Formats: sequence, structure tokens, C-alpha cells
Amino acid sequence: MPVSAPTQSSYDVIIIGGGPAGSTAATTLAQAGRRVLVLEKMKFPRFHIGESLLPYNRKIFDDLGVWQKIESAGFMRKRGAQFLMGCGTHKVRLDFSKGSFTQYPQAVQVERSKFDQLLLDHSRECGAEVREEAVVNDYQVHDKCVTVRYKPAGGPDQEVAASFLIDASGLSNLTANRESRREYYPGHKKIAIFGHFENVDMPQGEEHGDVLVVRRENSWFWMIPLDASKTSVGLVLDVADFKALGREPGQVFDDAVRTTRVVRDRFASAVRQGQMHVVSDFSYQNNLLVSPRVLRAGDASGFIDPVFSSGVLLAMSSGQQGARAIHEALALGRPLTAGMRRYEKTTRRQISLYWVFIENFYRRHFAQLLFQPNPLLRMTCSVNAVLAGRTRLPFSAWWRLRVFFLLAWLNKRLPIARRIAIE
Ligand SMILES: Cc1cc2nc3c(=O)[nH]c(=O)nc-3n(C[C@H](O)[C@H](O)[C@H](O)COP(=O)(O)OP(=O)(O)OC[C@H]3O[C@@H](n4cnc5c(N)ncnc54)[C@H](O)[C@@H]3O)c2cc1C
Repeated sequence: MPVSAPTQSSYDVIIIGGGPAGSTAATTLAQAGRRVLVLEKMKFPRFHIGESLLPYNRKIFDDLGVWQKIESAGFMRKRGAQFLMGCGTHKVRLDFSKGSFTQYPQAVQVERSKFDQLLLDHSRECGAEVREEAVVNDYQVHDKCVTVRYKPAGGPDQEVAASFLIDASGLSNLTANRESRREYYPGHKKIAIFGHFENVDMPQGEEHGDVLVVRRENSWFWMIPLDASKTSVGLVLDVADFKALGREPGQVFDDAVRTTRVVRDRFASAVRQGQMHVVSDFSYQNNLLVSPRVLRAGDASGFIDPVFSSGVLLAMSSGQQGARAIHEALALGRPLTAGMRRYEKTTRRQISLYWVFIENFYRRHFAQLLFQPNPLLRMTCSVNAVLAGRTRLPFSAWWRLRVFFLLAWLNKRLPIARRIAIE
């Protein structure tokens, strides 16, 4: 049904989705004095995957004024990330406090149901209006405003208007799907099978709270400690390999645990809590992030493989930067500004920084270098900085990273690193 063009907007900005991108954008705009409405389809708290955060999230928490609440919530502290070879031959630990190019020594591991609710409640406290169980099903861009139609729980469709729309609908990718803007990265059709477990034997002492990434030949596990006894464990593999196995997701997961020594050893007393989940995590980018009166943030701007735990940081960073661009556009009274275009450029640059790592992670010659770090030139420190979430690198870290990738590339042809089995 066509929607008529209203003459007056009741809000400055409507945000679709109350995940980390949406709530960060909402808080940023509300704190700047804008009238904001968040429409979220679920009732929070709701389950969500994506539990391991990066140290540089802290900067955004401080900007939003939410760090004290996060600190008081008692989330697990994460001081390092470990990359382990599944067969147990190699282990590399990146200690965030020891990288030469990082400023924040630790991050948190969070149950997303609790974390996302905390962020969304903070948006409310800062002045944003939040409507949960409000499913957006249509939007239209007019000359002077955008209109959004949504369905509240148990009621008829409602229509609201604003000067701008931020799409933070996550993997639903609402506005970009509508405009057929999604482009998949070739060769990255993955499936993730995951659940929460009690009594997984996770590192203690100095390494307590570390996230473990366990590399297998063509797949990998994450192990994220959420509290003293609960651990999130997931297996990521190619959809093609999964289909070729012809088995149920739970069986594929159990088989992979059994045949991966370092995971099997940690699973000796593990007990699953609740059901296993399955997500197809197909990495994609949208070929347009801003258009008149519309901006896309978080997974609704693009989604990349979760191996380096970059999703929430990128979501919050794009939510914050997108909100700032819209705040400026409102002040200028223009539907599309240079600031919005700059936002698109910056967001793409941040995503591509991680994308280079992700593509390489699945390559043998890169893994051989990653698993046998060399203190030469402090190259590992520059890797540490990016994996801590620093997306704006100083030149001293930038050139070291270039050299690292160059060596990984050369390693394909020359034995730069000792040949080790990836399994
Ligand atoms: C298997 C897997 C593992 C991951 N692991 C990590 C990790 O360890 N660390 C990390 O940082 N990231 C991880 N991620 C990525 C992370 O989950 C996402 O990047 C992050 O949640 C993106 O935040 P967002 O706000 O953009 O989207 P979301 O958190 O998905 O929020 C979007 C919100 O929009 C709402 N919504 C959708 N459609 C509508 C609609 N029509 N109307 C109203 N509301 C709507 C949804 O209900 C949802 O609440 C992982 C992802 C996957 C798939």
C-alpha cells in the first residue's frame, strides 16, 4: 500500500534495530539532543551470538558514558587471544597489555542478551525512545522525510516519520536487501554451529579470560569463557564441507570436538546448556551505505567472518560515526552530505582492514607465519594492535603490518617460515 508523504517529522532519526549498532547510534544522537526512535523487533533480553569483544571497544564505551555500567555488570575480563593448532603442536598468545601499538590492555567477554539490553537501556536513559516488539516492514524516502511502517506486538501497523533513517537491522539487512545491494565475498560461505557449555577446561591464572581460536585444516573453533563455569563454543566450516558430511549440525560439532585434540582435552567434563544454534555466516558487503536520508550501520552495512571478533566493535564504531554524520546533516538541513560519504569511506576502510586478515587466516602460508611468530621488527605487535581493535594505525605499525603480509605472501613461494601441518 503506498504511503503518503507527511509534511512534518515527529523524530529527527528513526533507527531500525536495537543491537550494538542501533543502540550506539541512538545514544550518540540522543546525547547530542536529537529526537530518536528505535524500533526493535524482539523483546530484550534476547539471545545473540558475538560474545568476544575487543579492547578498543572501551573508547566507545567511554564516549557513550556506559563503561561504569559495563564494569559493574561483572563481565569476564579478556586479556589475550590465543591461536591454537587443533592437533596441539603450536600455540600463539597475543597479550593485549604487551603490544607496543595498543592503548587498551583488556576487553570483556559478554553474554549478548545482558550486554545488548544494558546498551539499549542506556540509550533510553539518555533520552532515546525505544519500542520493542516493533517489526519494521516498510519504509519510504520522501523529499523532506522518511516514513517507516512497523507492526507492534498484537496491534495494527503504525507509521512514523523522521528526517533520517539509520538501518541497524543486523543480518536482516533490511534496506539493502530491499534495494538488492548485498554482494557476497566469493569463497566465504560458512556455517557456524555453536552452543553454551558448563565445565569446559579453560585457561586459568594469567591467561584466565582469554578467547581461544582453534585452527583445524579447513575450519576452526572459538572458545569464549563467559563466566567461571560457562563457555561459548562454536565450530565454523565451509557450507560445502558441511553438506558433504550429510549429517546433523549437532553430530558434525560432536565429531569435530572428538577429532580435535586441544578441544577434546578441554571437553572432558563439558556439559551442554540448552540447545545448539546454527547460523549461516556468509560474509557480504552492501555496495552503498548512504543515500539521501538513509544510512546503514553495523551488520546492515556488511558482515565479515567472526574469526577475529571484530563484529561488535565495527557495529558500535559505525553506529557512532554514522550518528555523528547524521547529526551534522541535520544541522546542515541536507539529505546527503560529504560527512555521510566520508562515513561510508571510513566504514569500508575499517571493514577491509579486518577482511585482509580474514582472507589470509584461511591460507596455509599465512597460518604458518602466524603460528611461528618472530620477534623481528615487532611485526607481531602490529598484528596485536589490529586484533585489539585499533583501526587507525600509526605509520610505525602500518609498515610493519605491510611487511608481515609481504612475508606471508612470499612464504607461498619461499620457505620463510618452517613448513608445519595445519590440522
Ligand atoms: C557465528 C558468529 C559469531 C560471532 N562472534 C563474534 C564475536 O565473538 N565477537 C564479535 O564482536 N562479533 C561476533 N559476531 C558478529 C556480531 O554478532 C555482529 O557483528 C553484531 O551483533 C552486529 O551488531 P548489529 O547491531 O549490527 O546487529 P545485531 O546485533 O544483529 O542487531 C540487529 C537488531 O535488529 C533487529 N531487527 C532486525 N530486523 C528488524 C526489523 N525488521 N524491525 C525491527 N528490528 C529488527 C534484530 O532483532 C536485532 O536486535 C559473530 C557473528 C556470528 C554470525
